[in-house]
Amino acid sequence: AKARGRDNFCMFVPDMKDAVEERLRLESDLHLAVQQGQFVLHYQPIVDVVTGQVSAVEALVRWSHPERGEMSPSEFIPIAEQTGLIVPLGDWILRQACLDAMRWPSDVSLSVNISTVQLRGANLLDTIMATLEETGLPPTRLEIEITENVLLEQSAGNISVLRQLKELGIAVVLDDFGTGYASLGYLTVFPFDKLKIDRTFIQELATRSDCMAVVGSAARLGRSLGMSVVAEGVEAIEHVEWLRSAGVVQVQGFCFSPPVPAAELRFGDMFETFE
Ligand code: C2E
Ligand code: CA
Ligand code: CA
Ligand code: CA
Repeated sequence: AKARGRDNFCMFVPDMKDAVEERLRLESDLHLAVQQGQFVLHYQPIVDVVTGQVSAVEALVRWSHPERGEMSPSEFIPIAEQTGLIVPLGDWILRQACLDAMRWPSDVSLSVNISTVQLRGANLLDTIMATLEETGLPPTRLEIEITENVLLEQSAGNISVLRQLKELGIAVVLDDFGTGYASLGYLTVFPFDKLKIDRTFIQELATRSDCMAVVGSAARLGRSLGMSVVAEGVEAIEHVEWLRSAGVVQVQGFCFSPPVPAAELRFGDMFETFE
C-alpha cells in the first residue's frame, strides 16, 4: 500500500505543478490582456414574450487570447476576481457596453453583470455615475445583475450600494436565482427589481416535473414581491409558451439568439422568425 501511495504521489505532483504553472501563466496573460484591451463584448437579447419585442440586452465578455483564441468568461472571471483585475476589466466592460447601448433603440435596456468584488470596492457607485454621464446612457436604461452571494455576505455596505443604485433609477437584478445557498428570507433584505431564474431549472423543464414546480413557484414568488421575472438559458421555443403561462414575462436563451457581437444584434419582433 505504501508503494502504491508513493506511485500516486509521484503521479500527482507533475499534474499539480502543471496546474499551478498554467494558472500563473493565465494570471500574467490576464494582466497584459487588461492593459492591452484584449476583450470583446457579446450581447444576448432578452425578449418580452408578451409583445415579442427585445426589451433588454445582456453584455457578456469574451477574451480574445492571442494564442488560445476566444476564451469563455467562466475560465477567466474567477481569476480576474481573485487578482482584483475584475475592477479595471469591469470598468472597461461597463463603459464599452454603455457606448454600444447608445446605438440601440431607446426603449431597450442594457444589463451588465457586476461581480461581488466590484460591489465591495469603494468606487463602484462613482464609476457607474461617471460612466453614465460620459456616455450619455440614462440610468433608467441600465440594469445591474448580481448573484445572491452578495447578500450572503450580509454586508451593510453591499446593501447600501444597491440601494443607492436603485435611487439613481438603475434596476437591480438577482441573477442565477435558485442556485445559491441563501434562504428565501434574503429576498426581503433587498427589494430587487427583477429575478432571473437560473438556467439549470429551465434546462430540465422537459424532463423533470419538479423543475416545472420550482420555476412556477419562483415566478409566483417574484411577482408577489413586485419583481419582474426572467428565465435564462431557454433553448426550446416550446418552453416559451409554458413559461409565459407560468408568469415569466422575459425570456433569454438560444431559442431567440445566442450572445452575438454588437454588429450582429437585431431588435424588434423576435416571434417573427417562428411564424
Ligand atoms: P450568466 O450571467 O448567468 O450568463 C448567462 C450565460 O448563459 C452566458 O454564458 C450565456 O452565453 C449562456 N447562455 C445564454 N443562453 C443560453 C442557452 O440557451 N443555453 C445555454 N446552455 N447557455 C446559455 P457565458 O457568456 O459563458 O458567461 C458565463 C458567466 O460568466 C456569466 O453567467 C457570468 O456569471 C460571467 N460573466 C460573463 N460576462 C461577464 C461580465 O461582463 N462581468 C462579470 N462580472 N461576469 C461575467
Ligand atoms: Ca447574468
Ligand atoms: Ca445567470
Ligand atoms: Ca450563471
